[in-house]
Amino acid sequence: MKGRQAVLEVILRQVEEVVGASGSGLRELRTLARETADAVEAISPGIERHTAAVCPGCQQVCCANRHCYHEYADIVYLCSLGERPPAYREGAVDTDPCQFLGEKGCLLRRSRRPHRCNWFFCTPLLEHVLESSARDYRVLIAALGEINGKRRALLHAFGAAMRARGRDPGDLQRFSDEIFFRYEKGRDKFDIL
Ligand code: SF4
Ligand code: SF4
Repeated sequence: MKGRQAVLEVILRQVEEVVGASGSGLRELRTLARETADAVEAISPGIERHTAAVCPGCQQVCCANRHCYHEYADIVYLCSLGERPPAYREGAVDTDPCQFLGEKGCLLRRSRRPHRCNWFFCTPLLEHVLESSARDYRVLIAALGEINGKRRALLHAFGAAMRARGRDPGDLQRFSDEIFFRYEKGRDKFDIL
């Protein structure tokens, strides 16, 4: 394992350690993570009605492999659910189709995808939602806001658990941001390793 995957593994180990040692705080983490997952799954059928209409004709499919890696906040969320990110394929090329893209779309449940995947709506898709039903559009935007609020609350609770162990959650956030930022620039070495 090397590069980005190795760094994400380091973050995963640290997050699992904190979640595992969070004691009575674990219930709050679990509750917030489950509420987040439920909120994401709740919007899935509505989104799929629109992707089924728009995506089959797409000439520039957005699911490139570089988008499939779970960052710090996703890892906190999955570990709080009592799960782990999926195993990534070694040597997958960033610009190839996503390793989790199947014939009928993403193979990961919507609530287990990186948040960036669930947050992304291309213009044709968003226009399709809006043109189909202004009400559906408003409901979707409100639901996305609610999901973001729950994720923020979860990260806040996790941050408190980390600080209780004398550690700064900002370190993992910066570490994660730097991985993706550096990869944007085509680098493949990380000083922290
Ligand atoms: S979401 Fe938009 S960019 Fe992605 S596959 Fe569908 S139509 Fe294409
Ligand atoms: S939605 Fe699924 S298939 Fe698309 S980039 Fe994200 S993980 Fe990959």
